[in-house]
Order: sequence, then structure tokens, then C-alpha cells
Amino acid sequence: MSGLVLKDITKSFGNFTAVDTANLSVPHGKFVCLLGPSGCGKTTLLRMIAGLEDPSSGAILLDGTDITPVPTHKRNLGMVFQSLALFPHLTVGDNIAYPLRIRGASREEQKKRSDELLKLIHLPGFADRPVAKLSGGQRQRVAIARALALSPKLFLLDEPLSALDAKLREAMQVELRQLQQRLGITTFVVTHDQREAMTMADLVVVMGNGKILQAAPPIDIYRKPADAFVADFIGMTNLLDAEVDRAGRVSVLGQAIAGLTIPEGLTKASVSIRPEDVHLGSVGGDAISGTVIFVRDLGGTIETFVETGGKTIIAVATPRERPDVKAGQQVGVTLPAQSCVVLKS
Ligand code: ATP
Repeated sequence: MSGLVLKDITKSFGNFTAVDTANLSVPHGKFVCLLGPSGCGKTTLLRMIAGLEDPSSGAILLDGTDITPVPTHKRNLGMVFQSLALFPHLTVGDNIAYPLRIRGASREEQKKRSDELLKLIHLPGFADRPVAKLSGGQRQRVAIARALALSPKLFLLDEPLSALDAKLREAMQVELRQLQQRLGITTFVVTHDQREAMTMADLVVVMGNGKILQAAPPIDIYRKPADAFVADFIGMTNLLDAEVDRAGRVSVLGQAIAGLTIPEGLTKASVSIRPEDVHLGSVGGDAISGTVIFVRDLGGTIETFVETGGKTIIAVATPRERPDVKAGQQVGVTLPAQSCVVLKS
């Protein structure tokens, strides 16, 4: 296949397995976010793609060619790390053109490419500025431009936005995604921020304990999480134990969920339902009875915490759908079968 393929990639440090049998196929031009909690192996996987770390076993293929033994400088990649590593004594233009200078490009070629890239990152006319005089977001863009100077085939970024404040970070996520789409370059970004991954990625790769747990488009990860870890890591969710009777009917908190079936062979399961899919209404009928313990009004959304059977269920609504409830009130909770995802537990 064309694009990047990881085949059974494992990396061990002594007895410790940092990346465990990772398999992944990424077609050309896709934006991939490696997502997971601290220590799950994201950076190690990225470093192996970069050739900065040798896999203990497995292979990395680029357009069908095994690049596992190819050294970093021959892999045709652009890289940006959290530290950015810009040269403080050089101007913006010279920082961007640096990779070309190393390759022996003429002064004119360097200037032409650096001006092109400055336009691309929305900093035209900044060539002669010292990097020390740039804002955090501008520095970020210069590091990105420098990584793109040699028109790489793969663009690899490790937590590139983590030093920025929340607002700038969100703006840069959109900018980075738009830039990647304009260039159509296959891109891997390491992040532990699920919102960042949902904003930018075509393909989110969720990792846990060195393993790839799920690789799918962001909305599929959100709507159809592969397991309880993924469901819990991506956005807010209600994870509830499910009981299954002999006829295969699924009950949650003592209430049968009409129309919800369990995959064959599964005897122990849990149900994940997103807070925005939980309905609150009056007690009775098929609803699960509970007590409202807290209401959090965040302006754009209202979160209602309901205690039932020793569990707390969170329901989220917009102000327009605002449930008319207060703490202490009894409510009926409905979990629509079509919004419930049955997971192995
Ligand atoms: P973070 O988000 O905190 O950067 P990560 O998901 O990127 O985490 P890695 O940096 O890939 O995680 O590390 C995965 C595991 O491998 C960690 O437990 C780490 O301590 C271990 N590890 C990484 N590099 C080495 C090394 N050179 N020697 C020994 N252990 C290592």
C-alpha cells in the first residue's frame, strides 16, 4: 500500500515494553494524532517513525519500501518538538532556510523558499526579525516552516503546542490543520489532549500501556469506542455495568434497556453512554429513578448529576433543552438504546 505502514512494531527498554506490537496503515496525506495518557508510548512510536529509535522488532514501510534501517536524515521528514529548538542568534528567515543552507542551496534559493514559507505561515515580511522578538505563536509557526523547508514526505510533531496558552493553542490547532490540508502532507502529531486530536486529526490513534487500542476517525472514536478505556479517555462518558439475562436482554441499574443487545459470546459487559444522550424526565414508566445531586450551569451547557443505585450519571443539555430540575429532586433517567455502546468489561 502507498503511505505509511507499521507492522508489528515493538520497542522494549530492558524488560519494559514501551510499544507493544503496533500495527497501523496510514494513507498519504492523512493527519494522524497519537493520543493517550502520559507514558503510554506515543513519543517512542513517533521516534521510531522518525528513525531516532530502532524498533526491537517489526517493520516500518513507506510506500511499500521497508525504511526500518534507513537513518533519520535519509527518511525525508520534517520534525517539530515541544522545545522548538530555534536558533536564537539567527533571524526568522535564516532559521527557516537553515536546512537548505546545510544542503548547500544558494543564497537566492534559500531566500525564495523562506519567503514562500513565511507567506504560508502568515508571517510575510518577518524574514529579518530576530526570533527572540517573536511571540510564542509566531515562534511555533517558524518552527513549523523550518520543518517544511525541504518539502518532506512525512511531517512529525511531538506535543508541538503544549507550551502555548489555551486560547492560542486552539487557534494554532486550526491553523496547523489548515496548513496540513493545503500541503496534503502525511502528518503525525503526539498529544495527550483529546480535544486537540478531535480538532485536527483524520485518524486518531488511541494508545494505552504501549498498545494501540483503537485507530479511527475522531467521530468514530467518540461514538463507537473500542473499549471502556477509550470511551473514558475521549470526552465525558457514563460507564455503567450491564447485566445480561438468559435471553440476552441487557439491563443497566436494574432497568432493562429495550432494544439493546449484547454481542454474542459476551457475558460480562458495560455500557457507555455520552452525557448528551442521557434524557431526564419524570419518574415512572421505563425510566431509572434517581436523585439530582448537583447542577452545573456552564453557560453553553448544563450538566446535571443524578445519583442512582450508588452510581452517578451525568446528563448534559443545552440551555434551550434545559431540564427543569434542582438538587434534591427525584427524576427519571432514560438511556436510549441507540446511544448505548456495549463494551467488554
Ligand atoms: P508523555 O506523554 O509523558 O511524553 P509518552 O506516551 O510519549 O508519554 P513515551 O515517552 O513514549 O510515553 O514513554 C513510554 C514509556 O517508555 C515510559 O514509561 C518511559 O519511561 C519509557 N521510556 C521511554 N524512553 C525510554 C528509554 N530510553 N529508556 C527506558 N525507558 C524509556
